[in-house]
Amino acid sequence: MFMYLVIRCGGCRTFTYVDRFQQWKLCANCGETIDVRRATVYLEVEDYHVAESVVEQLEEHLHRTKKKDLTREELDTLRMQYAQWLRSGA
Ligand SMILES: [Zn+2]
Repeated sequence: MFMYLVIRCGGCRTFTYVDRFQQWKLCANCGETIDVRRATVYLEVEDYHVAESVVEQLEEHLHRTKKKDLTREELDTLRMQYAQWLRSGA
C-alpha cells in the first residue's frame, strides 16, 4: 500500500512528501500552502523513510544536473527503479 506521495511545492519548488489522505501541506521552506490534489505526484511510496530518501535524491539530482525539473523520461526511470527495488525485497 502506497501511503506517501512525493510532491513539490508550487512556490519554491522544494520537494516534500505527504500522507496520501492529507489535502494540504504547509511548505517548511517558504510557508506556501500546497494543495496536494493539484500537485504533481513524482512517486508514491509505502513508507516515510523511503519518501525522505527520494526527496533527498531528487533535490540532489536536480542540483547536480542544474535542471529545474525532471523530464518525463527521468520520472519514468525513477518509478521503474523504485518498482524494481520493491520487487527485490530490499
Ligand atoms: Zn515552498
